[in-house]
Amino acid sequence: MPWRGIVVASCLLAIGCDRDHGSTPAPPPDAPAVAAVTTATPAAPPSPPAPPEVPGGGPDPLTLDPSYSTSKGSPNEGSLEGGVPLPLSGPGYRFTPRKKPERRHGTVELVAALVRAATHVDAHHPKSDPPAILTLGDIGMPQGGEIAGHGSHRAGRDADVMFYLQREDGTPFEGKAIPLDPEGRGTDYGDLADPSDDIPVRIDLPRTWAFVAALLADDTVQIQQIYVVEHVRAMLLAQGEQAKADPAILARFGDVTCQPRFPHDDHMHIRVFCTAEDIAGGCNDVAPIFPWQRALLKSQGAAPVAPPKRKTAKPKLTSVEEAREKAGPMDAAVTEFLDRRRAWAKPPHPGRRWCK
Ligand SMILES: [Zn+2]
Repeated sequence: MPWRGIVVASCLLAIGCDRDHGSTPAPPPDAPAVAAVTTATPAAPPSPPAPPEVPGGGPDPLTLDPSYSTSKGSPNEGSLEGGVPLPLSGPGYRFTPRKKPERRHGTVELVAALVRAATHVDAHHPKSDPPAILTLGDIGMPQGGEIAGHGSHRAGRDADVMFYLQREDGTPFEGKAIPLDPEGRGTDYGDLADPSDDIPVRIDLPRTWAFVAALLADDTVQIQQIYVVEHVRAMLLAQGEQAKADPAILARFGDVTCQPRFPHDDHMHIRVFCTAEDIAGGCNDVAPIFPWQRALLKSQGAAPVAPPKRKTAKPKLTSVEEAREKAGPMDAAVTEFLDRRRAWAKPPHPGRRWCK
């Protein structure tokens, strides 16, 4: 069964992979208020226009004022007020069908920026059949706070984003958490014990670069970190250079990208800084805080605020051994890939920062 195979495959070497269990769907967020229409007179005024239909319910993030939401505290300990759900689908994107829909809430700034960037990619690349769709994974819970399988994603400022993928013939392939090797290739193993259902895939670099570049160019949101494996980072930088990207965007991409302990070879984790408004509401930034972010906040009469120092319990994450045990039998191609994968799960070469 593909679902089991994929989730387990992405967890096999994961220190922090998402087990996605134990939660119940939240009620849909309140719909925007609509004025009551009186029926007392025969000449009743026309009904107000219906609010736009947003897949999955909730307000359209592109219409909301940033003050609608406030990120409180830090990504690892915080919470979220006025969390807005990413629409379940829109032009060129979808929220992963493999996760509960309650796990797609973030700040207005983050959710709207994700939607705009995906829409931009969709509008600026050739149409195809099947269409190239960005798949977004966990963002956060409606009120932030703890979310199963993650240490962060608690303050509405983190989002997991799959790479755009394609088949070997270049046709788009569904966005899934498929680990990619240093050539940018991976396999949708499906049933891990059955080699006959394996589908080779590779990263769609032009679209993946265009997405991150659009996010970095969006001045309503400041990207603090993009956690991604070193070899995909290098490929995206090369793609940006080849596409003659704005040097400022390339430099910013270089600044904010790093590989964490769990190598992030099957998705990117994107984190945004607190806005000045959110800082006034109790938003805390953790390291690194870049000079350009301090300068921007200063120009807005604000400064970053660190979270209070305290010891926090380590979240319970799936170990490699647990994931392997859960995975059951695997064919030789899967074990060979996992053995190769050890090579890039290590800290990057000297000179490159290994992010926490
Ligand atoms: Zn994440």
